[in-house]
Amino acid sequence: MTSENRPMRRLWAPWRMQYIGGIEQNEECFLCEAAKCDEPAEDNLVVWKDDLALCIMNRYPYNNGHLLVAPLWHEAALEQLAADARLALFDGLVRTKGVLERVMSPDGFNIGLNLGRAGGAGIEDHLHFHIVPRWNGDTNFMPVVAATKVIPQSLTDLYGRLKDAL
Ligand SMILES: [Zn+2]
Repeated sequence: MTSENRPMRRLWAPWRMQYIGGIEQNEECFLCEAAKCDEPAEDNLVVWKDDLALCIMNRYPYNNGHLLVAPLWHEAALEQLAADARLALFDGLVRTKGVLERVMSPDGFNIGLNLGRAGGAGIEDHLHFHIVPRWNGDTNFMPVVAATKVIPQSLTDLYGRLKDAL
């Protein structure tokens, strides 16, 4: 099929709509829920957790392998993080990036923080870094129109591969 007769060039990502539609009703903070888990497991999608921070798979990924790294406590303000938490978060980002490199061999990454509703935060009261692996030719970070379909790999399948690589 050529680009001229391709009927739909829209990014197919219905889980994003589920996510956007769920923000207002959802009172619980899934990051605090994750912080309370006894240990990382497939059913909570926590990839790793230490005394200060955790990494969890995003259930509504922008791209395959989209992970979140967050402090264990409910904190919205970057400047309120103590020095040890800042270090733990950055170490966690480096560690998580390494796992994704080993498992998924991406060509690049988007690593970022959305602060406040205007900044695009889904949960604005519990800050969290997004780590999104990228491949040459994949879609843009938040495209409206793109030539590539996003086909989600099963979260649980990927979870197992990430755990194996830790
Ligand atoms: Zn929270």
